[in-house]
Amino acid sequence: MSSLTDTSVTQLPCPTLAQLEAEGAPEEKALFRQLDAVAETRDIHLPLLDELLHLPKGRVVQYLHAKARACTEKVYGDRIFLRALIEISSYCKNDCFYCGIRRSNTTLARYRMEEGTILDCCAEGYAHGMRTFVLQSGEDAWWTDERLCRIVDTLHRRHPDCAITLSLGERSRESYRRLFEAGASRYLLRHETADAAHYARLHPAEMSYEHRMQCLQDLKEIGYQVGCGFMVGSPGQSPQTLWQDLQFIRRFQPHMVGIGPFVATQQTPFAGEPNGSVEDCLRLLSLIRLLHPHVLLPATTALGTLHPFGRELGVLAGANVLMPNVSPVENREKYHIYDNKICLDDGVDHCIDCLERRLQSVGRRMVVDRGDFQV
Ligand code: SAH
Repeated sequence: MSSLTDTSVTQLPCPTLAQLEAEGAPEEKALFRQLDAVAETRDIHLPLLDELLHLPKGRVVQYLHAKARACTEKVYGDRIFLRALIEISSYCKNDCFYCGIRRSNTTLARYRMEEGTILDCCAEGYAHGMRTFVLQSGEDAWWTDERLCRIVDTLHRRHPDCAITLSLGERSRESYRRLFEAGASRYLLRHETADAAHYARLHPAEMSYEHRMQCLQDLKEIGYQVGCGFMVGSPGQSPQTLWQDLQFIRRFQPHMVGIGPFVATQQTPFAGEPNGSVEDCLRLLSLIRLLHPHVLLPATTALGTLHPFGRELGVLAGANVLMPNVSPVENREKYHIYDNKICLDDGVDHCIDCLERRLQSVGRRMVVDRGDFQV
């Protein structure tokens, strides 16, 4: 699959649909029409997905991105929503083969944030215009329902105009319900892959695909706005498993979908595997947008990690959410999900300035808004 070599977004050819239509060769136009049909039917066949992932960069891929961009603009305009990400604990009981904070990584110094520090980070995010707080963590049993509910409840009372998102992995339905009642309204739990055999290739036998899917179902039934998602280029992934991911998204109708390239990480069984492709990730972002036009779609930090302009390219491919890290700088290296993560030393001020400039370069603006799913 192809790779990106662009060094500057402003040099990126960003032609309009009309320009592409005027310039397209007949065989390109045939694919344009197939992409139109994807948008109209909100479905895609496996052979077309396969072809799109193997196509060299060119007018057809530009058409895909332009169409996804138009779709994003129709629903959300030029607005980009921010989520303040707070990584509350790096302890994890799981041993996912891809993840740097897996329990078998004994070289990693672990931390757990104090309640007061979490609240301070949220207040700082608030002062910088963020109206969604995402509390993310490894699966850490120290964070009992009681402790979490207390924080969620306090946050909810201090910032009634904000949305509280949790991303704490698999918990019981009862726990999800209690946290919802305490004031959390969104939950991010990537499904990782919608193919059971592929799931088993990425996780130890003690983890189960069925349980992951059950958690997602429970979250939805409780009333959360739910985010699923997957890594692009994880070992064992194929056009076939990706097609299943897209079909799962069509069925499940999540409010958010988080995708980013797989980043091979030291001290994991996948340390020697190749990284995922930024280019494939961009194509999938666009397809997800076309299949599910209203979805909230972040341009992820992993995308920014593997390409200097990965997040801008993500926005140009149809993403409309950014998730700046507002965790204390001293913790960031320890929340080592993958190698070479960017922005480890950047305070919130710096981060917002940087993102603002990056968004301007691609004709978007960040807004002070909860950024709810637009029905
Ligand atoms: N424990 C929480 C949070 C996990 S971290 C949970 O289970 O939801 C958030 C996401 O990071 C994971 O869902 C995974 O898709 C992604 N991730 C983990 N390791 C990665 C890697 N090496 N490269 C890219 N993304 C990774």
